[in-house]
Amino acid sequence: MLSVQPKGKQKGCAGCNRKIKDRYLLKALDKYWHEDCLKCACCDCRLGEVGSTLYTKANLILCRRDYLRLFGTTGNCAACSKLIPAFEMVMRARDNVYHLDCFACQLCNQRFCVGDKFFLKNNMILCQMDYEEGQLNGSFETQVQ
Ligand SMILES: [Zn+2]
Ligand SMILES: [Zn+2]
Ligand SMILES: [Zn+2]
Ligand SMILES: [Zn+2]
Repeated sequence: MLSVQPKGKQKGCAGCNRKIKDRYLLKALDKYWHEDCLKCACCDCRLGEVGSTLYTKANLILCRRDYLRLFGTTGNCAACSKLIPAFEMVMRARDNVYHLDCFACQLCNQRFCVGDKFFLKNNMILCQMDYEEGQLNGSFETQVQ
């Protein structure tokens, strides 16, 4: 992205509208920028650094982190299957993510508090009671066979 200023006419910076007198300039989005002027609209981090990717949306220039935070998604809620926007708080259990509201025992709807035990069985969240009940039933089944 960083390129040497071609000889001749100086380019204007798309960020501050001043001429770029530096030896190096950045070319991004078909415009030219001072190294310091191409930065994230949210966190002000410089986007000209090697390896950084910039994202644009709704006239904003954003770093990857802010873009994902504002416009990305975390994934689908394992309980209700709806998309979870990246900025929303989520609960995680193994590889699954859940809306805070959806993170409850899927049999008795009990919510979990910090420190509460929960169990994952067949991708269902269960409270300790329902899990243990399931275990018991399971062992009966194996006895019958
Ligand atoms: Zn500038
Ligand atoms: Zn940022
Ligand atoms: Zn959900
Ligand atoms: Zn339960």
